[in-house]
Amino acid sequence: SDKPVSGFDGSRQISYEDVGGLKNELKNVRETIELPMRHPELFRKLGIEPPKGVLLYGPPGTGKTLIARAVANESGAHFISIAGPEVLSKYYGETEQRLREIFEEAESNAPSVIFIDELDSIAPHREEVTGEVERRMVAQLLTMMDGLEERGQVLVIGATNRVDGIDPALRRPGRFDREIEIGVPDETGRLEILKIHTYGMPLEGEVHRIYLEETLDEIPEEYREEAEKRYELTVEEIESQRERLMQDLASRTNGFVGADLQSLAREAAMRALRRYLPEIDLEKDEVPPELLKKMEVTSRDFSD
Ligand code: ATP
Repeated sequence: SDKPVSGFDGSRQISYEDVGGLKNELKNVRETIELPMRHPELFRKLGIEPPKGVLLYGPPGTGKTLIARAVANESGAHFISIAGPEVLSKYYGETEQRLREIFEEAESNAPSVIFIDELDSIAPHREEVTGEVERRMVAQLLTMMDGLEERGQVLVIGATNRVDGIDPALRRPGRFDREIEIGVPDETGRLEILKIHTYGMPLEGEVHRIYLEETLDEIPEEYREEAEKRYELTVEEIESQRERLMQDLASRTNGFVGADLQSLAREAAMRALRRYLPEIDLEKDEVPPELLKKMEVTSRDFSD
């Protein structure tokens, strides 16, 4: 079957469809980031500066990175992602040089989005830090952002768990002067996120229908109706069953963020897989097609 498989393994372009439960936030993101990237002329016409920097803030695992990736893809921008702590440790002693290179890469590939995850780690309050490296890093970042103006369409998206953990100089106009909160999802948000992460997973009861759909063509027309009847569940029934399971999960996962819901879905699929393990012959290269057809994830797999 060529049903798409869910998962963010990097092999696929991330779009807004992959972001669940952040409708207003996405609207804000599109206005603040996507619009100026795609239509700088609108901003020029009105005499306003498009933003150079946007801060996405909120708890870990709520989708900040996901949004940055989506917005870059959707606006056809070159995407460069760096993690604050990684730049600090990996390029210790040459972090300023590394930052310069990143901005150069962004400029020569413009329009570009530079995503800096855990911005607070490379740009903490300067008075709070003792490290000379961090101090120089903040200064360098300020220099690079101030220099962006004339050089074209480069936007820096910073992510942080807390905005007040960032050097105030970085939040002045012309720098990271837009802030968008990405919060913990509510029940409706969790439902959307769960649907995204279980997309393509055959859920309880669904396999019979899938099997029927695959073989329906082979059944002589006059017997089809009878065959459909035998597979008790209709498409509608399966869909509502799926909906019920997802709603039940959403109502029981208060406090879960997107990353938690993703691992919940993944864990459930792994549990289902373990149930089928006895039927898999590890010596053989192929899994029997019959087994593939009957594999499904049940509600039990989602609960402990
Ligand atoms: P951190 O601050 O730890 O970097 P983050 O807010 O950037 O966290 P992401 O890295 O975007 O979080 O989220 C991790 C993974 O969790 C994502 O790749 C995605 O699979 C899932 N996820 C998080 N939020 C959402 C969401 N709103 N919709 C769908 N999936 C989500």
